[in-house]
Amino acid sequence: MQNVPELFGSMVFNDKVMKAHLPRDVYRSLKNTIQRGAPLDLDVANVVATCMKDWAVSKGATHFTHWFQPMTGVTAEKHDSFISPCGDGGVIMDFSGKELVKGEPDASSFPSGGLRATFEARGYTAWDPTSYAFIKDDTLCIPTAFCSYTGQVLDKKTPLLRSMEALSRQAVRVLALFGKKACRVTATIGPEQEYFLINKQDYACRPDLILTGRTLVGAPAPKGQEMEDHYFGSLRPRVKAFMADLDEELWKLGILAKTEHNEVAPCQHEMAPIFATANIATDANQLTMEVMKKVADRHRFACLLHEKPFEGVNGSGKHNNWSMSTEKGENLLDPGSTPAENTQFLLFLTAVIKAVDDFQDLLRISVASAGNDHRLGANEAPPAIVSVYVGDELQAVIDCLIEGTPCRPNAPTVLDTGAVVLPNLPRDTSDRNRTSPFAFTGNKFEFRMPGSSFNIACTNVMLNTAVADALAQYADELEGSADFQKDLLTLIRRELAAHQRILFNGNGYGEEWPVEAARRGLCNFRTTPEALVHYTDEKNVALFARHGIYTREEIASRQEILLDEYGKAIRIEALTLLDLVRQQIAPACIKYANGLAAGVSAKKALGIEAPAEAALTGKVSALTGEMLAAADSLDACVAAMPQDVTGMARYCADKVLPAMAAVRTPADKLEQTVDRTLWPLPTYSDMLFYV
Ligand code: ADP
Ligand code: MG
Repeated sequence: MQNVPELFGSMVFNDKVMKAHLPRDVYRSLKNTIQRGAPLDLDVANVVATCMKDWAVSKGATHFTHWFQPMTGVTAEKHDSFISPCGDGGVIMDFSGKELVKGEPDASSFPSGGLRATFEARGYTAWDPTSYAFIKDDTLCIPTAFCSYTGQVLDKKTPLLRSMEALSRQAVRVLALFGKKACRVTATIGPEQEYFLINKQDYACRPDLILTGRTLVGAPAPKGQEMEDHYFGSLRPRVKAFMADLDEELWKLGILAKTEHNEVAPCQHEMAPIFATANIATDANQLTMEVMKKVADRHRFACLLHEKPFEGVNGSGKHNNWSMSTEKGENLLDPGSTPAENTQFLLFLTAVIKAVDDFQDLLRISVASAGNDHRLGANEAPPAIVSVYVGDELQAVIDCLIEGTPCRPNAPTVLDTGAVVLPNLPRDTSDRNRTSPFAFTGNKFEFRMPGSSFNIACTNVMLNTAVADALAQYADELEGSADFQKDLLTLIRRELAAHQRILFNGNGYGEEWPVEAARRGLCNFRTTPEALVHYTDEKNVALFARHGIYTREEIASRQEILLDEYGKAIRIEALTLLDLVRQQIAPACIKYANGLAAGVSAKKALGIEAPAEAALTGKVSALTGEMLAAADSLDACVAAMPQDVTGMARYCADKVLPAMAAVRTPADKLEQTVDRTLWPLPTYSDMLFYV
């Protein structure tokens, strides 16, 4: 490998490159746009475009694309080449400021939840100068936001940028109360990405993995993850080579890939980057998923990003580590080393606790999908109930504050007001609670519910906006205060008391928790449709309107898209399962039973009794019959699916999924009974233990 610092970001039009390539005044205006959101004029854009193109061409690029994140959750691109005829039959490589700043892809073919009808398909992409352009596959990719012609957002990026603005605005107000002049506060995010690697040839033989991302049939392997021998286990050479290659590709794109390790399940791994600002981390994570798949292919692997590729085996998530930082790099969730700063920390902490309590439903919605429903509440992922873990030490401080009693977990620090504030929290004081969906981990929160295939934009829109809202209320209340220290502590105490129901440090996997959570009045939406109906609840519409994130129509459109996506995903699964069972599994079973039957008859003709074989024939035939009957029922069930998105989603959860399970049960029994050499699909053993 080349020297890493040299390699790092070599395919990115980053600050260093801009500084080196742009005329000084152009660089300064662009920086002003990036840092302060100042509008960029076309003359400047023209110069930037030319420099960008020259740089890209020098790196072998021939095309450019506006790279954006429509509501499908994946990234979209439409490539245009740089060529432009120059009059003498030849071409020059050309790229204008207009092309850099604005693009017009056809908006009608992306889901818009009714915001864009096909007959008024115009939508446009607008350059997001806060995320660097980069080169991928000989194409200059320009990160953009995607809007309809009337300005309605059609993507995941625009609301994220808006929510970052909202959070910054309110956090700056709160910091001012503490006498701090911050210009900007940014949400910082480190998304840990989990994934599976299986052999490419196995993947190619599993239509269910190819079409739906998960196995729809498959008996458990004799060995699972019970030996706990894979987590942080030493890497097999092929996997190690993959990871080295992945790091290199990500580094070229300026992505701070930091940690690579094995996860709990066999064949499961994780990549954690160093955290970045919310929009950059989101772009980087989208790219990471794409690069993972590409690099896996080179190493004869298939990379599975589905939340639950294998039943009964750990699923994959994406841990969204989240905090807030000023432009000077002060982490607002760092407990700090001086008591005065601790009251500031406590106020921000309280705001996060309030935000999670007030908008549990939105956080749950932000992680709702057909895939993730298999994971939330299963035995390895956090339950579908949102709660906050703060650890025993911080909990003790919170309890004391609520009760108004002195608190002395470590060396206590008493302020003049007589109230007690937080003692120095050594980092990693708390035993990490792996069962909590939202855990304080020393100087940030880790939200563990997002699914591995998710675009993290949505989750962070919810988080940023909800926290901004809490901070806004606190700032409103405290800005006119005559006795700030006193009023501050009164507020913190009152708010912690009001929101303590969301705090839970116990075992989130325990059977008692859902009962206790119900007693506390916490939401528990087990399925995606159950969660999604709350997207348009009045309090949620009001929240987004207050901070200028979404209009009512934009929320309704998102709700519709997600419901539609859920129903469609399950419909595809059902149809894939039917094909698998009827065209591959049943024929194999019938062939096996026929062979057995022929043998039994032949033996009988010779006067040989073969009762075991006869019984086996009967068993296989009976199970095959059961499976095919269940397939017919599933077929009928799918045919009766309601047409409206809400009805369809509910129906899929309540009717289609159970009908699929009824097909799977006999199919998996057959797998354990039928001759291996006849079984048409790679088994869980094949896939999980022979990489
Ligand atoms: P674990 O696997 O134990 O949860 P890791 O060290 O693998 O922890 O991942 C922690 C993640 O949190 C990393 O991506 C890291 O960059 C990120 N992180 C650390 N500090 C912050 C912060 N202030 N804001 C956001 N993310 C952070
Ligand atoms: Mg983690």
